[in-house]
Amino acid sequence: MRIAMLLLGLLIGFSLFADDGMWMPHQIADLDLGEQGFECDPDMLFRSDGRGLMNAVVKLSGATGAFVSPDGLILTNHHVAYRAIQRASDAQHDYLKDGLVATRAEEIQALGQMAYVLLGYEDVTAEIKAAVKDKMTYRQKYDAIDKAKKKLVKRAEQADADSRAEVADIYSGHYYYLFRYKRLLDIRIVLAPPEDLGRFGGEIDNWMWPRHTCDFTFLRAYVATDGTGAAYSPENVPYQPTSFLKIALDGNKNDDLNFVMGYPGRTYRNDTAKEMQQAIDYMAERSTLYTELMAFFEKAADSRDIEIKYAGTLRGLANAHKNYQAKMAGFVQHDVLAKIRQREEAFLTWAGQNQADAEAGRYERFLDDYQAAQNERRGLESLVSGYSAVPVLLSQAYTIYRTVKEREKPDIEREAGYQERNLIDIRQRIELADRSYDVAVDRAFFKYLLVRMFDANPARVPIALQQVVASKSEATVSDFVDALYDATRLQTAAERLKLLELNLKELRAISDPLLELAANIEEQLEEVRERDKALNQEKMELKEAVMAGMLRFDRMAPDANSTLRLAFGRVAGYSPRDAVFYTPFTTLTGLLEKDAGQEPFIVPEKMKELIAARDFGPYVDSEIGDVVTCLLNTTNTTGGNSGSPTLNAKGEIIGILFDGTYESVIGDYHYIPELQRSISVDIRYVLFVVEKYCGATWLLEELGMR
Ligand code: GLU
Repeated sequence: MRIAMLLLGLLIGFSLFADDGMWMPHQIADLDLGEQGFECDPDMLFRSDGRGLMNAVVKLSGATGAFVSPDGLILTNHHVAYRAIQRASDAQHDYLKDGLVATRAEEIQALGQMAYVLLGYEDVTAEIKAAVKDKMTYRQKYDAIDKAKKKLVKRAEQADADSRAEVADIYSGHYYYLFRYKRLLDIRIVLAPPEDLGRFGGEIDNWMWPRHTCDFTFLRAYVATDGTGAAYSPENVPYQPTSFLKIALDGNKNDDLNFVMGYPGRTYRNDTAKEMQQAIDYMAERSTLYTELMAFFEKAADSRDIEIKYAGTLRGLANAHKNYQAKMAGFVQHDVLAKIRQREEAFLTWAGQNQADAEAGRYERFLDDYQAAQNERRGLESLVSGYSAVPVLLSQAYTIYRTVKEREKPDIEREAGYQERNLIDIRQRIELADRSYDVAVDRAFFKYLLVRMFDANPARVPIALQQVVASKSEATVSDFVDALYDATRLQTAAERLKLLELNLKELRAISDPLLELAANIEEQLEEVRERDKALNQEKMELKEAVMAGMLRFDRMAPDANSTLRLAFGRVAGYSPRDAVFYTPFTTLTGLLEKDAGQEPFIVPEKMKELIAARDFGPYVDSEIGDVVTCLLNTTNTTGGNSGSPTLNAKGEIIGILFDGTYESVIGDYHYIPELQRSISVDIRYVLFVVEKYCGATWLLEELGMR
């Protein structure tokens, strides 16, 4: 009886309304959205001629933006453009603190920012599966799939010099899709608010409601005169998108239909309870680490210049740390693992304890071995690529060494990420590193990490460092690192770029101690990576078998995988805890209430004057009698969705998504409808700041608002 009830619950849960998923464009037609009040023609969402609403949405390195004018203007979040703003800043030109308001001629390069416009995608499951034969070993299958993907990508990218392709899978390799993009390399910063507005509330308000952050930035994409995506040049012209979104000033009411289009990164809803337990362990370990790293960088930043250089790193650590805290709390509070186990039980009962049962059991046992392998690899990678903060010079040495080494092989056999097609990104990483590190801090950081390894499991310490770590002597560590940093020639980007052009023999002949250390670490990592290929394939296959059963059981939305998705929902408040209910709109009045005159709650003087004058123009909400600053809706989103346009039922922008709530981030693992909420900045607040605070009337004209 209990199982039957559960099953019924699951079935009803899956078919209620589409706001439990992040849907791929082709899945939307099946969702029956007309009934929910959706006023757009579903055929107008994504179109192969580029004229759909979703075609206006761009992928921005790990986040989202949307075209909002025929001249390549992109609307995204301040926190999405944060690193680019940081790279353009120093103590004299402090765009982070002061913001930037640029006319067309004054726009500055958004260094490191690229934009990807989706041209189309196709199901390539058959091609990928055809590469795999039954009698192959896991390793052979891994290689066959890897090669098939690379071939598909190569073929797709041959079409145009600026085209980029990627193969992404859903339901653990159940389906594969080939996505084709146009890559835009020349992105510029048009308007960024000062940090006091764009990051109002800072880490205290991050992942929280009520929120008053004006988290927006305008960028612009430029292309060569022939229309191709090309590197920055003063000759480049604004990109003319095939589709751009319109803005609505009439706002939203409680319960209005909203939808969000963007590039959500990763969710884990289709994971098993055991996988989730492993994720909890990982988050706990990372939380401790991030707390310590944040303390290190806060202390190290003893001048504004250094503070700026590490601003992005620090912010990334703080953001992930709070997100993990919120998720771990959510797991406990909602007894998520027990619920997932119940789901698994119900599924097994349905499946009649047959083949699927066997697969699920095998998968569970396999996960222990897999986890042990993962832990070993992470430990070895931790100094060169694995953390969100690594000693920059060592990781640069590692990038150079690996790129040069991989280049000795034919292109198709090189590791993904180190092929000819990746050289643009690699060169850029090397060039821009100098803007986000200080050599004295980096040296101290390397020492700090080695000292931190004194208590680590020795198997997780690279062999090349085991001796110095085993000394457990800070003086020995200090001498070791000083010797590396005193002798290396990697300190300037110009020098590093030169080294990148050498062949392996020439590179080794230089005997740079940081390159030699990187080479030693890589030698060990390569073995582990090769071993893990077979394990990864086994994991994928075992999980696919489990997923195949689950998919026959009922409809499941695919987990996010950094491809274009659409999520639906309604404007709604929520109750975070007993006796508390949050309404879905915040206002300028609330902004003033939070003003504390000190960071992160400083309302700039000019803003106070504007509010006092109540000169809200068309941006006031007639019902509320104030400018709405942020809003909540029930859309199902996650990291990567930042900068996604939030649209009304007609497909017009009413806000820009920028966060989730503390109580809802558990949704990456387990969806709780009463708590699932996304936070957007109201577009009217954005335009109020653009017009009244920044005086950028030319931008309003471009947006068609005048
Ligand atoms: N909470 C983040 C921030 O404002 C953005 C959301 C995300 O990382 O997904 O920094």
